[in-house]
This record gives sequence, structure tokens and C-alpha cells, in this order.
Amino acid sequence: MRMPNFIRFLLFAVAILAVLDDVWAERLPAISGVRVGLHPEQTRLVFEMDQAVPYKIFTLSDPFRVVIDFPEVSWRVSPARMRASVGLVSGLRFGLFQPGNSRVVVDINTPAAIAKHFVIPRKGEKSLRFVLDLKPVSRAAFFAAPRSTESRSWAKRKRKPSTPAAPARPRSREDKRRVIVLDPGHGGVDPGAVGVTGSYEKKITLTVARAAKQVLEASGRYRVVLTRTRDIYVRLRDRFEIAHVNKAEMFLSLHADSIASRKIGGGSIYTLSDKASDKEAEDLAQKENKSDIIAGADLSAYASEVSRVLIDLAQNDTNRESWHLAKMLVGELKKDIKLLRTSHRYAGFAVLKSPNVPSALIELGYLSNRTDEKNLKNPKYRKAIGKAILRAADRYFARKTLNNRS
Ligand SMILES: [Zn+2]
Repeated sequence: MRMPNFIRFLLFAVAILAVLDDVWAERLPAISGVRVGLHPEQTRLVFEMDQAVPYKIFTLSDPFRVVIDFPEVSWRVSPARMRASVGLVSGLRFGLFQPGNSRVVVDINTPAAIAKHFVIPRKGEKSLRFVLDLKPVSRAAFFAAPRSTESRSWAKRKRKPSTPAAPARPRSREDKRRVIVLDPGHGGVDPGAVGVTGSYEKKITLTVARAAKQVLEASGRYRVVLTRTRDIYVRLRDRFEIAHVNKAEMFLSLHADSIASRKIGGGSIYTLSDKASDKEAEDLAQKENKSDIIAGADLSAYASEVSRVLIDLAQNDTNRESWHLAKMLVGELKKDIKLLRTSHRYAGFAVLKSPNVPSALIELGYLSNRTDEKNLKNPKYRKAIGKAILRAADRYFARKTLNNRS
């Protein structure tokens, strides 16, 4: 029996509505505008939203920052890192801090207190606004005042089941492949460097990691775990911890820096050392180690650990292996991509501080250099980087097998 056309149409419409309903349920609250304004006594931050959301505000010191936490929201604001410098505010960025938790980090150039926070409901054309007023205070008053406050709805908010940025998959016994961890630098609330045409280091590193994973796994010899698979912040120490949990034999952190001179281009490889090879390497390590501060993490518990990378004696074997790994990476990468003249350097990179997994950090190029930025946005170039990493890994493990035999 043939179904009448109008019934078919109805069934079709119901199916579409069911799909739309699913999409709707997944839809995140959206933030469509962020403004910083200077008022006589205070600096005001205004967030335009499509609905009221629970929030928590707290201040951090060394350096002074104000952090606003929301449930996961979608940002319809660009650029993701505003060069806001108004009143007390010297910088502002936002993004995903952890699953189900979006974050705004406000850098302040002097100690400040949370003076007021409130929500202005939607009115006519004007969208709902969340307002936060900050007023300057003395250092003593900063530490004496309450440093955290939240909306009444914050404690009652629906929490998403927490899924880690990169879950560890236990390896089956039959899986004889060696495990390599690729670490796309930065992510979420920490955008990393910003390129000449506005590309973000956090995006570039993730696309390169994905391309390299594909090439390495296609060989059949390696299983590749990424420290993050989306645009989310991951603590530096959690990154090398992922290598440890997954029993990795190699950890490669991927980055793409930006510097004042636009003329300088080319990649370079770094390994861990408590003495830096040169001033630039030391500065770079300091910059990369700031990731947790940029993301508004409270480091009071392990601040000294990050600011000064101490290397214990047990790490020496791993460091020697890392050294060989870096040499092989230089040898293979230089066949396909331009490297700096001093292509292997060393300094105190916190992310390389795995006690037992040979580790290296690859600066893929400078996003401040037009050619480098253009290359890194090209899928062919990213694939070539993946192939060079594959050749270096093959050489590295061949040497390791040989040494174990003798
Ligand atoms: Zn970086």
C-alpha cells in the first residue's frame, strides 16, 4: 500500500524536529560581546549573553589576575585574545578551562577588589548583560578582602560528567606498537602566540599534531596519543603525566612562537636542561612555562616547581636519550622544513620534565613570520612535518633496539 504524500511529509517533519531538538539540547549559552570601560572610580567589564548563567569570580596574585568561571559557553567574540588595556585591565582572554567550565582571565596591573557584580536582564534590542566592577586597592587590602564570590546559582549548576582532555586507553597485550605522545601546545583559555594574519598557535599545534598522528599510525609501528584533542587548556604537568600513564616511549611538545622581528623564520628543537644554551632559549622556556599563569590556574601549591625547573640525577639517563632524539629530529626535519642556524637548544621547559619519557619540544616556526605562518596553514606542509617525525622516530628506536642488544 502506498503511503499518502502528506503522511510521508509529516513523518519527515517529525524526524527533522527530533534532530533539531537534540541540537537544541546541546546548544551552549552564548557570549556575543565583551567590553572593558573606564569609570571614575572603577574599571567595568561587561559581557553580553543570550541567557543568564551561573558564575564564580575570584582573584589571584603573583601576578595579579581576576578570573571569571562560567559553565561551558560558546564564544561569539573575536579575536579570542583581546588586547584590552583599559584602566586596571592590561589583558584579557577566554576559552575552555576544563570540560564543562569556560573561563575568562583578566590581567590587572595593580591589586584590585571585586566591587560589584550583577546581571541586567534583556531589554528590547539590548541583550542580557553580566557586569563586573573592579576597584584598585592596596596590596594589604587585596589580601585582607574576600577573594572569591559567586552567583547563587553557581553551587546548583548542572555539572557535565567530566571527561579528561585526552583519556588514557589501556593498551591491549596484542598491541605491540610503541606509544608516542604528541602534545599540541597551549589550548582553550591559553591561546599561545598570535600570527601575523591572526592565526592562533593553539590551533596550529593541534592541526600539526593531528597530521603527524595520521602519518605515524599509518606506518603501523606506532600508537599516538594526543594530550588534547580539542580546544581546551591542559596543565603543563598533566601533559607529561599523560605520557607516563600511557607508557609512552617518546613525548613531543609542539609549538609555534612569535617574536618582534618578522624577518626571522624557521623551526628549532629544544630539550630540558637546568642551564640554558643561550639567552633566547631561556626566554622562550620562561614564556612557555607561563601557560598555567595565563590560564588563571592557582599555582600556590607548586609555584616554585614551575618557575624553577630542577633536574634530579635520576633524570640524567632520560636526558641523554632526549638529546639523541633531538639530534635525529633536527636531521630529519631539516630535509623538509627550514630550521634556525642553531637548531638544537636547551633550557628549563616545565613541559619536558618527565622523569622517564625522552622528551623534546619542537618550535615549528614563527607565526610572526609570514612564510612560516603560511606554511603551517598548508596541509601538505603539515604532512611533511609528520613524515619527518616518523623518520626520526624510526631512527631513534632503531638505535635504542641496537643498544639494548649489545
Ligand atoms: Zn608555545
